[in-house]
Amino acid sequence: MPIKVLAREVASKIAAGEVVERPASVVKELVENSLDAGASLITVEAQGGGVRFIKVTDNGSGISEGDVQPAFRRYATSKIDTLADLETISTLGFRGEALPSIAAVAEMEILTQAAGDTAATYLQLRGGTVANREKRGRPQGTTIAVHHLFRHFPARLKFLKSATTENGHIANLLSQYALAFPEVRFNLSLEGRTTLHTPGNGNLRDVVAEVYGLEIAEQMLAIGGTAQAPGVTGLVSPASLARSSRGYLSFFVNRRWVRSSLLARAAEDAYQGSLMAGRHPIVILNVSLPPQEVDVNVHPTKTEVRFRSGQTVYAAVEQSISKVVVKAPPPKVRVAASPPTPSPSLWTASGPETTPAPTPAPSLSATKATQTTFVPILRVAGQLSSSYIMAEGPEGLYLIDQHAAHERVLFERILTQRSQQNVDIQGLLEPVNVELSPKHEEVLKASGELLNEFGFSLEPFGGRSYLLRAVPVMMKGGNLAEGVRTLLDSLSSDEGPLRREEKMAQSLACHAAVKAGESLTDEEMRELVRQLEQTSQPRTCPHGRPTMIHLSSRQLEKEFGRTG
Ligand code: ADP
Ligand code: MG
Repeated sequence: MPIKVLAREVASKIAAGEVVERPASVVKELVENSLDAGASLITVEAQGGGVRFIKVTDNGSGISEGDVQPAFRRYATSKIDTLADLETISTLGFRGEALPSIAAVAEMEILTQAAGDTAATYLQLRGGTVANREKRGRPQGTTIAVHHLFRHFPARLKFLKSATTENGHIANLLSQYALAFPEVRFNLSLEGRTTLHTPGNGNLRDVVAEVYGLEIAEQMLAIGGTAQAPGVTGLVSPASLARSSRGYLSFFVNRRWVRSSLLARAAEDAYQGSLMAGRHPIVILNVSLPPQEVDVNVHPTKTEVRFRSGQTVYAAVEQSISKVVVKAPPPKVRVAASPPTPSPSLWTASGPETTPAPTPAPSLSATKATQTTFVPILRVAGQLSSSYIMAEGPEGLYLIDQHAAHERVLFERILTQRSQQNVDIQGLLEPVNVELSPKHEEVLKASGELLNEFGFSLEPFGGRSYLLRAVPVMMKGGNLAEGVRTLLDSLSSDEGPLRREEKMAQSLACHAAVKAGESLTDEEMRELVRQLEQTSQPRTCPHGRPTMIHLSSRQLEKEFGRTG
């Protein structure tokens, strides 16, 4: 066959086939138009799985008389003008294809009233051309009815599923838009029966109650929105509420419903380790970012997007969810029957808070601790400047920073206890009042569960006051309120859960570790050195600084000129 340009009718039907795949696609395009028109009430009716009849009614801006007919021309849109506008698109539609596409594959009626027009415009279209035009009455807004979808497309009709399946697609679609626009009232009637009805009060949880039921709605955890772009807001399920399909993942980008494997991965990764294999969370998230950061013009149905910085979006979503998702059940608090007795050992926090002992620069030609994690059995010889333990080993002299060494010991202990859900907890007979700053409260919101898992019990007590009822045993002694505040200061709400867990352990260890400037008895020094020997990384503190300096026997000999 020689090459020839397709007749307009053929071309438009091919193009229409891309936009209108099934009845739910028609509903999608019409509902998007209603939302773009600023409607606060949208009613959708479908009959025969949407093949026989679809009607969408809104109370939006309406289309002014002179614009009704042009709206059915291909690439006719009021939403963009220039190519540059595509960069900053804030409407759901922009391609100007929906109305002509639907008109190409079905019979249509439109009745629309714009503000300022004396009468509503009624138009009937058959085969894409106007068959009837009248003036009628209607309050402001638009009604579009679609009849006999694909009647002249037996091939497409054949691929449609049962009315029940197509109705399912329509119901799901409307649910998604209702979740994306809680401030809009949605009404869906399928085969004459109301199946969805949202209040339009702006409360997402109320929409979830309509879509997934009250029980789920009540348990969903709020995602709070981040300070910097991209903003992530919505509701996610606790790990205990997992589902066996991915059908409960709803993602919106600037409130456009999208399918995105990147977003799905970010969300599911946030639950990693807390869901059994084959279980999936319920997630309803909107990612808002500057329009320039996302390309929505990827696919004719506009359900796919491309992010300029996928990594940033991934991280924002993963972290927002991680912050609120409960990873493990909090440990049981064991309240002490008798007042806490002072520990026989010194290894609890006491004395004034001092900055961790600075790492002394290796003097002489002493080498810094090498990478080996192994530490030989040491014999404590004495304390230096109330800060360092001098010890002798088979390989020479060791100078141990007592604070750093103790931090290492406590850091590993608390992490082990936490991973075994076996944190030693001290219930406080007299709760301690802790005043928090708004910033602390932010962190507390994000890390409350983590604090719980580390053995803290902190109850709201009006305003920004909290009652501290239990602490990890490690923490007891010293100024507890100050300890909690320092702990919250060390955490940041936008870090991932693993990093926060590590920081929490670091901060706890630092708080509880013996300080530089405290004199220790021989017994205490021996105990500390023995515990240090048993840690997995005895040569560095949790912050990565060395815990000890080693002067080898050979170096000593050299310094004293005993060898050549
Ligand atoms: P697009 O949405 O991409 O602009 P459409 O073919 O869906 O293209 O619609 C064409 C135009 O018709 C829109 O730009 C809008 O101006 C107008 N329009 C369509 N539906 C409505 C509606 N429900 N309310 C107000 N205007 C509408
Ligand atoms: Mg549109």
